Amino acid sequence: MSWKILIIEDNEQNLYMMKFLFQKNGFDIISATRGIEGIEKALQYKPDGILLDIQLPEMNGYEVAKKIKQYEILADIPIIAVTSYAMVGDREMILKAGADGYIEKPIDTDSFVHDIKSYLQQKQVVKP
Ligand code: MN
Repeated sequence: MSWKILIIEDNEQNLYMMKFLFQKNGFDIISATRGIEGIEKALQYKPDGILLDIQLPEMNGYEVAKKIKQYEILADIPIIAVTSYAMVGDREMILKAGADGYIEKPIDTDSFVHDIKSYLQQKQVVKP
């Protein structure tokens, strides 16, 4: 058994990179390229953690985080926002929307998986 992660990301290259890094480390990956699809997959698969891009078409990451947290069965799943925004106040907005943490793009391929594992462990998501 391994951690099951849902990645919601519309950029194919970023999605490919994250999938590659996770799968190399034995994670199970589910992905979505739109917010609505992401919410549906979260409900369907109940992942151990969600990586959420903020800049998404149609429904942005803030809205997606808010919606996910409204579902009682999803509310405890840690959401880690992935954002290229580096402006002051964005972190606060992301956390206010319901994300539990965030990492900045570009993704640091050396520390990415380690950072995500740390978040999951902090949130006491125990590897099954
Ligand atoms: Mn994006």
